[in-house]
Amino acid sequence: MAILDVLTYPDPLLKQVAAPVTEFDSSLARLAEDLEQTMRAGPGGVGIAAPQVGVLLRVVIVDVSSRPGIPNHGRLVLVNPEIQRWKGMVKGREGCLSVPDFIGTVIRAEHITLQAQDIHGGTQQYQMQGYEARAVQHEVDHLDGLLFLDRLVSRHHDLKPRQS
Ligand SMILES: [Zn+2]
Repeated sequence: MAILDVLTYPDPLLKQVAAPVTEFDSSLARLAEDLEQTMRAGPGGVGIAAPQVGVLLRVVIVDVSSRPGIPNHGRLVLVNPEIQRWKGMVKGREGCLSVPDFIGTVIRAEHITLQAQDIHGGTQQYQMQGYEARAVQHEVDHLDGLLFLDRLVSRHHDLKPRQS
């Protein structure tokens, strides 16, 4: 396992659309392990997407279980994730390993239906809400070359320096 270098805004690789995973092999498993270790080494540490380490594949990791009192599915490796339904809208604060100095206020769906494969290629479906749904929407955006900065209504009102 290895902690990988995280690309930061405005690295052009963060604007690329990532390709679907077609090989569910040991290199995918290793990528997932490295992504998880990299995520846990960073501030916040609730999600990471492969393009953030320069790998243009549709793989994300989300784990919001460290946040107290919120519904969650624990640690998830989501391969080729697809959000199939969105319901409700809610504003909330987001950070990003690739935008380390800022926190943004972003509107996201409150409930989502998500379909994704696991690292063995099996298909799973999830009903998610609240912070976990927000984290997944943020990470799936990375697969399409979008950062939370792209979803701010106003940079003046919705972008604040991260207090560390
Ligand atoms: Zn991010």
